[in-house]
Amino acid sequence: MNNTVLITGASRGIGKAIAELFAENGYNVVINYRSSDIKANELYNKLVRNNRSAMLIKADVAVREQVDEMYAKIKSAYGGVDVLINNAGIAEQKLFTDVSEDDWDNMFDINVKGMFNCTQAVLNDMISNKYGKIINISSIWGLVGASCEVAYASSKAAVIGFTKSLAKELGPSNICVNCIAPGIIDTDMNASLDDNAIKELKEQTPLIRLGSPEDIANLALYLASEKANFITGQIISPNGGFVI
Ligand code: NAP
Repeated sequence: MNNTVLITGASRGIGKAIAELFAENGYNVVINYRSSDIKANELYNKLVRNNRSAMLIKADVAVREQVDEMYAKIKSAYGGVDVLINNAGIAEQKLFTDVSEDDWDNMFDINVKGMFNCTQAVLNDMISNKYGKIINISSIWGLVGASCEVAYASSKAAVIGFTKSLAKELGPSNICVNCIAPGIIDTDMNASLDDNAIKELKEQTPLIRLGSPEDIANLALYLASEKANFITGQIISPNGGFVI
């Protein structure tokens, strides 16, 4: 084991918080992103300045060749990954009748096929090593559904089915596959919500606040650790009590 983690979609939001926390905890951190060059470089430079081990790779998780090239670079630098965090994702709010075929395909290409591509890229080496942790980021909306988010919620429900099935298949190879289904987290993904909507969401949450990216990062660090070696196939939802 060389303690290497690949975090997809780590230029901003939850992925960035995960990258920072894993770096502080001694992991070699591979920051993947698609388009936020400035933010991704800022994060990479900050980690390196603090003497953390980090690598920055621009790749669209929806495109298999880019994912395979990304993994080849990781393999030559670190020998493989011990932990894969399938975090890259997009969301869109629309009436179902307004969702185009392209909208639907784009949502599934990134949120579901991206996870498929990245998992297949790293898996053969994890199986050979008889060790690995895969953590997939779903959403409460994948658990309970959301009006005007049929495509997003469906893609996040697929993440849950993928996690449960793969956990059963990979258990004998000592690879744990788990899923984090966050509640409302304070990131760019919710930037379009106005103050009233945020206030209502907080009021509906027993802990009376939105989650922070760090709330999710802390759980990811635990699931990646050897303390969680008997946990697999689980969907864990840090949501402040919003969904119970
Ligand atoms: P965010 O702030 O919008 O960040 C999304 C990240 O995904 C960015 O780093 C973005 O990179 C990356 N990304 C998007 N498409 C990509 C692609 N095709 N290839 C590679 N990277 C890609 O979102 P977030 O709130 O941190 O969300 C992270 C994950 O948590 C998502 O899966 C989301 O569905 C899930 N989630 C979020 C919430 C929430 O309330 N925020 C709740 C539940 C679940 P670039 O900017 O470089 O393109």
